[in-house]
Amino acid sequence: MIGAGPPPGGHWLKMPPMNAVVDAAAASATPVPQDRLKLTEIFLSLQGEARDAGWPTVFVRLTGCPLRCQYCDTAYAFHGGQWWEIDAILAEVARHGVRHVCVTGGEPLAQKRCLQLLARLCDAGYDVSLETSGAIDIAGVDPRVSRVLDIKTPDSAEVERNLWENLALLTPRDQVKFVVCSRADFDWAKQVLSRHRLHEVCDVLFSPSAMQLPARELAGWIVAERLPVRFQVQLHKLLWNDEPGR
Ligand code: SF4
Repeated sequence: MIGAGPPPGGHWLKMPPMNAVVDAAAASATPVPQDRLKLTEIFLSLQGEARDAGWPTVFVRLTGCPLRCQYCDTAYAFHGGQWWEIDAILAEVARHGVRHVCVTGGEPLAQKRCLQLLARLCDAGYDVSLETSGAIDIAGVDPRVSRVLDIKTPDSAEVERNLWENLALLTPRDQVKFVVCSRADFDWAKQVLSRHRLHEVCDVLFSPSAMQLPARELAGWIVAERLPVRFQVQLHKLLWNDEPGR
């Protein structure tokens, strides 16, 4: 229920007290480099996409991506960033006091320790989703995570990066997303859908590429062809138009 506010006494989740997290970190005298990840930002907003759209969500945006999709709206996450201990990430997520956490990028799985972070977030009781490009093996992702896996279309300019073996690993917890740039992309996505019977495994999302394909056009094609997919527009773009940190 959005907007009802947390229960008396604070958070929806039972969180460890902040000072306990800080004390635990302080107790280890030397930093443990293998527990670090490079982050671009952590912020609280509304989930704008996929099954959890509309939920207040903490976004953990990891730095770096080996792809260069022509429509990318997070190129600022390709470089830079700051190293964070996983304990510190958990403490910052807890500070926001919501149930949903989305680990995104960039391509979060490009940093191997992302797998550790995902498992730790699940252990802490969060409802965790992962946004991934579909170009990196998802086999090691904690099964409690809902994976939102892109399939890159020809007009993304990165179609050859699709790791097709990932499709055999999908479960009903997961979601597959096509960002559609043109009618040719739509026809291609339709073929992939039917060849792999993806809609029989998990939810399949079709999004129009902002600025390239009018949303109404894509919606009309889906209805006309009665495709077993969910049309979606990016809620955060409607609300905040790519304002940083929202
Ligand atoms: S995979 Fe995502 S972050 Fe990487 S270039 Fe493509 S849209 Fe941008």
